[in-house]
Amino acid sequence: MENYKKMVANLQEVDDIIKAVQVLQWDRETNMPRAGSIERTHQVSTLRKIAHEKGTSAEFTDTLGAAAQDVADLDADSDEVRLVALIQRLHGRQSKLTTEIVQRLAQAEGAATSAWIKARADNDFESFRPYLETNVELARETAELYGYENELYDALLRGYEYGISAAEVRTIFDAVKAEIVPLLQAIIEKGRPIDDSVLYQPFAVEKQEQFAREMATAVGYDFSRGHLGEVVHPFMTNFSQNDVRITTRWYPEFLSSGLFSVLHEAGHALYEQGTHPNFSRTPLASGTSLGIHESQSRSIENLVGRSRPFWERHYPQLQATFPDQLGSTSVDDFYRAINKVQPSFIRVEADELTYNFHIILRFELEQALLSGDLAVKNLPAAWAEKMQSLVGVTPDTDSNGCLQDVHWTRPSAFGYFPTYALGGYYGAQFMEAMTEQDPTIADQLSTGDPSGMVNWLRENIHTPGSKFPPGELVIRATGRPLSHEPFVRYAKKKFGAIYEL
Ligand SMILES: [Zn+2]
Repeated sequence: MENYKKMVANLQEVDDIIKAVQVLQWDRETNMPRAGSIERTHQVSTLRKIAHEKGTSAEFTDTLGAAAQDVADLDADSDEVRLVALIQRLHGRQSKLTTEIVQRLAQAEGAATSAWIKARADNDFESFRPYLETNVELARETAELYGYENELYDALLRGYEYGISAAEVRTIFDAVKAEIVPLLQAIIEKGRPIDDSVLYQPFAVEKQEQFAREMATAVGYDFSRGHLGEVVHPFMTNFSQNDVRITTRWYPEFLSSGLFSVLHEAGHALYEQGTHPNFSRTPLASGTSLGIHESQSRSIENLVGRSRPFWERHYPQLQATFPDQLGSTSVDDFYRAINKVQPSFIRVEADELTYNFHIILRFELEQALLSGDLAVKNLPAAWAEKMQSLVGVTPDTDSNGCLQDVHWTRPSAFGYFPTYALGGYYGAQFMEAMTEQDPTIADQLSTGDPSGMVNWLRENIHTPGSKFPPGELVIRATGRPLSHEPFVRYAKKKFGAIYEL
């Protein structure tokens, strides 16, 4: 096992560098003065270059090949065999990129990020356009380098959701559209909009934060290995399973945004805090795909955090925190308010139903940009048109339209968006499976206690880390491949009840 050990030692050093990059990026989003941007871009770019060289050197390629020989006789499900298989897959992909393009990707991202922050603040798409054109071109270039069998988009999607094709995503999204469009229509036609004004009142940020911390703890987030920071665009990042940080943004006059993004990011963090300790400093110690990652965050945010039993349990404490604002609002009205279905411009503020359409829109536009069917200069108009046809609203500005998300500042992030919606479908499928397998989980959830659910997720999803690719993990955990049907059943039942359809 000498070569295997040598391989692991190299992986650990690469992991150290990658985690240092993540610290720099976390700092950039939370604390760094904007003036530090150019140098920070160089710092990240240099470290990524070193990591790339270390992970793709001829010496490492030899070690990897020899390590594969070392583990050839071990059990196919052993950690060693699975780690080698994962590295062969990642290595194969990474070695398709030259050091030169890796640096160009990092530099393009740095430049585009600064341009996007300004363009979004100024509602000035035109100033961001050249950066986006570069990024689309770079995304195409990298997809060609990775290679693909059917569609260029597959090459990019594969980096985020290994084993699923663009065609399969289209099939799932079309099925979701066929079911959720009529549901949304029925809600709108019912003509009984929910009054959620109770959520829009002055809520002191310190008290919001205190309460959100308690809710994050209630769903299992471990603050002794965590940290909560404040940013423009909430995210989770981790530097080890013992340092898993979440971020949020607070609105002094709106309760939902800060609270539910803390629960969302806590769901991501549970996954990273829950990987097997033996996997530390290797690529096994991380979520296996973005879709599975998003299933964890959306399960905690929505299946738990927007459920009625959770609030029957915790609403009295929220009322005690904000007696003037919520003292005369019933738990039933609060539950309806936090689940209001409302077509709107902003993805991250969207409800559970219209959220799907925000993602489908981005998936379709990305494909059009990459195929050349849509020129970048026509993106704002195409965005507005699709928002109208899918969500039923037209954004008032580009800042509330195609400039709202950070993703397209990264040429490597094309192919990322579909995983957000897939996460909702994985999550609903996990929920159905766990309550079938163990009815006490459902009993606990009906009292607002997610501990049985979190234990099931820890055992079936978190502990294996990246040991199994997403398609295999889903079958191992639920006995079935990914389907949109559990999500559709969940959505119809929940929103049918809320809107009395
Ligand atoms: Zn997320």
